Amino acid sequence: MDPQRRAFAEAARGFMPPEEGRALYEAAMAAPVGPFLEVGSYCGRSALFIGAAAAERGAVLFAVDHHRGSEENQPGWEWHEPDLVDPHSGLIDTLPHFRRNVYDAGLEDHVVAVVGNSPRLAAHWGTPLAFLFIDGGHGAAAAHADYEGWIPHLAPGGVLAIHDVFPDPADGGRPPYEIYLRALERGDFTEMGGTGSLRVLRRTG
Ligand code: SAH
Ligand code: MG
Repeated sequence: MDPQRRAFAEAARGFMPPEEGRALYEAAMAAPVGPFLEVGSYCGRSALFIGAAAAERGAVLFAVDHHRGSEENQPGWEWHEPDLVDPHSGLIDTLPHFRRNVYDAGLEDHVVAVVGNSPRLAAHWGTPLAFLFIDGGHGAAAAHADYEGWIPHLAPGGVLAIHDVFPDPADGGRPPYEIYLRALERGDFTEMGGTGSLRVLRRTG
């Protein structure tokens, strides 16, 4: 990975550890030719890792987020960052941070922000994806809706990455682990690897 792009990605605000970000980059590099899509961008850290791969591959990353934060980012919850609240709406707004980070990393030609609700977009999506990264809402309804909405759009041979997969409930919430199991149970995914809470699978069928 280009050292300067890696430095920008690691410096971007977010929670993903650097080694998981690098594994995400490698997963995107292993995808076939075609568009990339991530669900859940927050301030852009993961998008900078995937976007670096997109730039090297001549690909495009669609970065889907309503930028209002997940349940766990809201006031009173564990992952709330008060300075992300927009005084105009009183709601979280991570989009300005996302844009700034994509601009600073020089990735505006390769990262396209899609601002809105993920399952709503998935219902209208039509382009087969070479790479899909799921890291949106981690509640049961949100995670399963992302799984159900986006898995049908992953092309054969395409790479699926899921973040915050914690097999041990003591380490974190279960829904990302549940959707990882659902993918394996389909029978047409093989596991490529895992780094921290990141799991990477390839669709074989
Ligand atoms: N992948 C990011 C972190 C994402 S945090 C990184 O590693 O840097 C989860 C994100 O999912 C939040 O920004 C939240 O706004 C978004 N999100 C949650 N539910 C969503 C939904 N239904 N539609 C679109 N975005 C959603
Ligand atoms: Mg995550």
